[in-house]
Amino acid sequence: MGDAIHNTVEGLKKSLVECRRDLHKHPESGWTEFRTASIVAGKLKELGYTLTMGAEAVSKKDMMGVPSEAALKEHRQRALAQGADPALVELMEGGATGLWADLACGGGPGPRMALRFDLDANDVQETDDAAHRPAQEGFASTNKGVMHACGHDGHVAIGLAVAEALAGMKDQLKGSIRLIFQPAEEGVRGAGPMVAAGCCDGVDIIAGLHIGFQAAEKGDLICGTKGFLATTKWDVTFNGKSAHAGAAPEEGKNALLAACAATTNMHAIARHSGGATRITVGKLSGGQGRNVIPPEAFMAIETRGMTSALNDYMTSEARRIIEAAAAMWDCSYKIKVVGGTKSGESSEDMLARVQAIAKTMPAFTNIIAMQDFGASEDFSHMMAVVQEHGGVGGYIQIGAARTAGHHNDHFDFDEEVLPLGTELLIRLVKEYLGA
Ligand SMILES: [Zn+2]
Repeated sequence: MGDAIHNTVEGLKKSLVECRRDLHKHPESGWTEFRTASIVAGKLKELGYTLTMGAEAVSKKDMMGVPSEAALKEHRQRALAQGADPALVELMEGGATGLWADLACGGGPGPRMALRFDLDANDVQETDDAAHRPAQEGFASTNKGVMHACGHDGHVAIGLAVAEALAGMKDQLKGSIRLIFQPAEEGVRGAGPMVAAGCCDGVDIIAGLHIGFQAAEKGDLICGTKGFLATTKWDVTFNGKSAHAGAAPEEGKNALLAACAATTNMHAIARHSGGATRITVGKLSGGQGRNVIPPEAFMAIETRGMTSALNDYMTSEARRIIEAAAAMWDCSYKIKVVGGTKSGESSEDMLARVQAIAKTMPAFTNIIAMQDFGASEDFSHMMAVVQEHGGVGGYIQIGAARTAGHHNDHFDFDEEVLPLGTELLIRLVKEYLGA
């Protein structure tokens, strides 16, 4: 069966590249992946998977950082103009672009194994540099200000190729397969609402994969990842009262000063002996004019922690400081959570199996067991939930030559990674569900 898998993937090579390039040309950022999700749903339905979509796949009350109604409408129309299936887009009301697809295998009862793929692009304007391959070969982004600059176009292409291969071999597998296509990974907003809707219910095994990242070169494979930072993203608004800055400053309540006091003090939160933490006020704005006491101020902030408990420490300290700074300047405040995820560590069991499979694939010339991530990726949220229920999970990074760093406007990757990632995931599913 080993060679059969390799041959199947050889046959999928052309469609992998075509799919990746089509998605690259039509990128969509978080919660606006209408066209991308409609392509995924259409294909999976055709392959015989049972779909869960829209409000059933994404808990709407848990959605964070959702674009305005006007922006959603504009992006929905763009998706339709670019060929999205109207009936499928209809189901994604309010930006609920996540979906999962189930397939019962024919080889008898067994565990449920899930694979997760992220759908979204970045808010980056792709370069028009003539030497940039997507420009040269006609698949550069046609959507202004949006670009697949992290490789998620490749992830979706791999996901669909894996779906096709697994559908063809389902009678040689036991248990069931769940393919999760998650929106809004950037800003770690998509996993939480999908978990809340039940995407990890009954899942015994879950795997995720990223092209590049710490697997910097072709031939690199990082079999497991740990040290995903837990993180929380907040929008904070302070409200005070405007007044004439010359004639009656005492009548004002200065919201900008409250925000400034909060900013400097949050950056002075005592570091924790339990491990690494981060806090950043990444954006601060407020006020209306030179001679007006500022009646409002806005901060975009994030905290991170090596563990969820450490991140909780940072958020509770930040909350206390915001409250105190508002009280000090007699202002009110509002905190809106716009993103967040748990920390995580890949299970040893999966790491060992990925490692064993990689050793049988000659394309992997530099196999690294476990790597510390030191950043956030909301797959860790799904992985932690599956592990909390006694399951196993793992996150794989697969190397590819790249033209620039992730999220850079010159980003592109060597498409040879597409069949390689596809083959690895099929083998991993066979390893767990082989009848
Ligand atoms: Zn990414």
